Amino acid sequence: DTLVNQIAAGEVVERPANALKELLENSIDAGAQSLNIELMAGGTKLIKVIDDGIGIEKDDLALALHRHATSKIKDFDDLQRVGTLGFRGEGLASIASVSRLVLTSRFDGGAHAWRVEADHGRLSDAEPAALALGTSIEVHDLYYQLPARRKFLKSDSTEFAHCAEMVNRLALANPDKQFTLSHNGRASLRLMRGDVHKRCAAVLGDEFVQSAVAIDERAGPLRLWGLAGSPTLGKSSRDAQYFFVNGRFVRDKVIQHALREAYRDVLHHDRHSAYCLFLELEPEGVDVNVHPTKIEVRFRESGAIYRFLLTSLTRALSATKA
Ligand code: ADP
Ligand code: MG
Repeated sequence: DTLVNQIAAGEVVERPANALKELLENSIDAGAQSLNIELMAGGTKLIKVIDDGIGIEKDDLALALHRHATSKIKDFDDLQRVGTLGFRGEGLASIASVSRLVLTSRFDGGAHAWRVEADHGRLSDAEPAALALGTSIEVHDLYYQLPARRKFLKSDSTEFAHCAEMVNRLALANPDKQFTLSHNGRASLRLMRGDVHKRCAAVLGDEFVQSAVAIDERAGPLRLWGLAGSPTLGKSSRDAQYFFVNGRFVRDKVIQHALREAYRDVLHHDRHSAYCLFLELEPEGVDVNVHPTKIEVRFRESGAIYRFLLTSLTRALSATKA
């Protein structure tokens, strides 16, 4: 089973940032309002996430680290309209197979917390532990025992940059939650609860928010809202392009094409613009079950999505130009 998990880990956990994403998404699915992240050496030495979510019951701790154990999907209908960020039940099992993972959790109402440790898939018995509430997961020495994999990791600062970008994406999609991030013991990011505008200002800068166009367009079950920046002169702002579909960060050809067309039509501009936009549609209209790490989606009616995005953006951008 460990080998199967290690192979799966190669897919799910390419680098520390992917492991971090799995942990943060679990915290969000668990209803956490506050997410604290501590990284050491770009996440290669330590990735630690502490949340204040519902927690895990003692008897479910081992199960949580087991492959294909998910508490989120009960039947095929659920899979058709996934409402949680995770649903495959392979995130924790994969990470635990290529690291030393310590899981401490206090289930809502429990007298105290419980702790289990998985050393490259070998699970310890649960022991009583101290934790006020929620869940704390430590991932030590990712890929330490798999030098072939470890070789693909870049410098600590590059791995940290990937982790920080992952935090930005999840933070923008969850402005009502608090995020803190530290690296090698130094505070790196502190985001207080607020609305999308406040969160955009914190992540993308005040300048972006002040110059951006606010969008909120609807057509039937479709809604596009958020902030679209004006094209930046000079340096590319590709990094500051955030698009979310039903709360998930995506990078998709249909979406990018529509955005490029709108900017070109209205502003006659080919340069990259920063944006933070949210598309919402009925869960059945989009397949998020494409690949665990790919930030791709498949729309059931991509033509309709394309036309809606183009029309909405064109209208919003034109209104400010007039
Ligand atoms: P998935 O998210 O696809 O269900 P994971 O392997 O990521 O699979 O997690 C397995 C299970 O462990 C989850 O379904 C959930 O029940 C539990 N779990 C993991 N992390 C947390 C957390 N931070 N708080 C509460 N429960 C958690
Ligand atoms: Mg998960």
